[in-house]
Amino acid sequence: MTKTFHIRTYGCQMNERDSEALACMLRECGYRQVMAEEEADILLFNTCSVREQAERKVFGKVGILKKLKRRRPDIIIGVIGCMAQNYGRKILDELPHVDLVVGTDRMHLLPEILQDVCTGQRGQVHTEPGTEVLGKLRGHEPGRVSAFISVMRGCNQFCTYCIVPYVRGREKSRPLPDIVREVEEVVAQGAREIFLLGQNVTAYGLAELRDQGEYRPDVSPFADLLLAVNEVEGVERIRFTSPHPRFMNQAFIESITTLPKVCESLHVPLQSGSDRILKAMRRGYTSEDFMACIQAIRERQPEFTFTTDVIVGFPGETPEDFEATRRVMDAAGFEMAYIFKYSPRSGTKAAEMADDVPRALKEERNQILLQDLERRSAAGNDVYIGRTVEVLAEGPSKRNVERWAGRTRTNKVCIFPPAKSIQVGDLVQVHIERATPNSLFGEVL
Ligand code: SF4
Repeated sequence: MTKTFHIRTYGCQMNERDSEALACMLRECGYRQVMAEEEADILLFNTCSVREQAERKVFGKVGILKKLKRRRPDIIIGVIGCMAQNYGRKILDELPHVDLVVGTDRMHLLPEILQDVCTGQRGQVHTEPGTEVLGKLRGHEPGRVSAFISVMRGCNQFCTYCIVPYVRGREKSRPLPDIVREVEEVVAQGAREIFLLGQNVTAYGLAELRDQGEYRPDVSPFADLLLAVNEVEGVERIRFTSPHPRFMNQAFIESITTLPKVCESLHVPLQSGSDRILKAMRRGYTSEDFMACIQAIRERQPEFTFTTDVIVGFPGETPEDFEATRRVMDAAGFEMAYIFKYSPRSGTKAAEMADDVPRALKEERNQILLQDLERRSAAGNDVYIGRTVEVLAEGPSKRNVERWAGRTRTNKVCIFPPAKSIQVGDLVQVHIERATPNSLFGEVL
């Protein structure tokens, strides 16, 4: 009988993408994907190690499956991804009912491992480091307008609060022709928008150049990659995440502001607007450097919208530091941000510092930033009223299936009435009639 599987994903977009690719691979091997956990013969948890709280959640969630395993000993429970890489065999010490542990660098082997574990031919723990996963973990849901393509993994930055370099290892980039081939494949399956993913995409290819002794601060292999993807026929839009401000050089800025398929929206992590805190975070730039990048982009292409990641309550953050963050966020015009209330992550440098900002103050700062964002996004969206914008049709809106939703090139959600002539993946011209802080509403021309 066909075995069924369910994947539960925690954490970032990279994990979402890995789970999507894994699901495609498992389906190709004859397994059937189910949406309800209770119907699955194989339960996989694709985990995240960025926050200790998220790890505790997984330990709790998988822990309570002990009873299920007792009732249904044939069910297979797997912990995969960052926590598997981070803890390896220790997961089995804590959760002995888990059948397999597969780290980030071995995920592409999961179909084989699954087979072997079922027949008792292979060990349960697979965390050996390697680079093959980069090109081999691939697969795209046919018919989806946006395709996520992983271009590099790992990080060399060692920001003091972050566990990623310890878990995901050093930066490794995929060869450019390999990525272009995958882009062509997903376009053939109906994708129109390409989302290039990596922990630090602006450092794409730099580690390899360094190894060959060819590194220069003015080159940007990522700009070369954007150019190559821009040339693929059938690609309508290109987006990417996350760039690191430290590597946003002239070549990068030139490419994102001139290549016609690169969308005018950039998610660029600020983390703090205080130079003192940026230094303590070891981010490698000052608020002035950061704003210089934003201004350079805006001067060349005023349509750009910007979103960001910010941490509030980092050790030692004073009211003045926090006000500096607000000022930079305002100057950059961020309309959306992922705000993290700092919590120490054991194994990082920052965890050795005193976590001295009280929890209530972190929450207060979080709320202040949220209000600032809402005010800016309301004003930013109002600007669109009366204008006509290009929208990539994604299908029925999640909130109201009688309306359709799509995104502008500047990444604004746009709601419009459906029409027989409009298919998923079409680019439509929408005349905007009203706006809220979250969405634009209009009529298709
Ligand atoms: S750049 Fe910093 S925050 Fe981002 S993954 Fe690397 S170490 Fe973590």
